[in-house]
Amino acid sequence: MPLTMALSKGRIFDETLPLLAHAGIHAIEDPETSRKLILETNDPRVRFLIIRASDVPTYVQYGAADLGVSGKDVLLEHGGEGLYEPLDLGIARCRMMVAGLPDVGTPETRRLRVATKYVKSAERHFASKGQQVEIIKLYGSMELAPLVGLADRIVDLVESGNTLKANGLVPLEHIADISSRLVVNKASWKMKHAAVIALLNALRDAVARRSNPIEAAPRAGRGAAHR
Ligand code: ATP
Ligand code: MG
Repeated sequence: MPLTMALSKGRIFDETLPLLAHAGIHAIEDPETSRKLILETNDPRVRFLIIRASDVPTYVQYGAADLGVSGKDVLLEHGGEGLYEPLDLGIARCRMMVAGLPDVGTPETRRLRVATKYVKSAERHFASKGQQVEIIKLYGSMELAPLVGLADRIVDLVESGNTLKANGLVPLEHIADISSRLVVNKASWKMKHAAVIALLNALRDAVARRSNPIEAAPRAGRGAAHR
């Protein structure tokens, strides 16, 4: 059964490739240089769709892709309808955090203003603390918002914290640990079960080897299993 897999360029594509290689699958072309949105692989039964990271769950939900790789941040916003999330790939790890300028408390005369592209996650986080906030939807460069008085706080992904630091911001509250997940369309899970399970198992094995290369592959050299 042919399988269509939705991937996004950049970090997710780069970090998923070594895992797919373990399953014997590699793209014929590099999405960074190719303009094609449908990439063939060495396996005629598998093709990749190259789409925006935030669109991956939508393609998979509607079955335009059988499976995909999506950040948990994107899945939290999407809601996960129509999807199974059978495997944490352990790649593109970071944390979703509340951040802001140091020593700036909550305003007394109005609600806290929070700028983010993660509207649902931000709403849920502050609601769970019983805090009424005003969410300001942005599409990127959230770090700018507190610097120019657009918002009191941001909700964003933090990896090293260097981007926050470079803009004079500090992490304040942890919301969620983020990594990329394999997602599978619910109908494909049933209708293409053997193909989906074969790929799932190969990816699971690749993830296990990478997190524990010595035990999982005692005879392997210090090469491909690492990274
Ligand atoms: P686009 O650039 O298309 O608007 P995007 O900025 O969300 O989308 P990327 O920056 O490629 O896309 O991020 C893709 C995924 O990688 C995110 O959904 C998240 O899961 C993960 N990610 C983003 N930033 C980081 C980071 N600093 N460290 C680790 N993982 C990250
Ligand atoms: Mg980006």
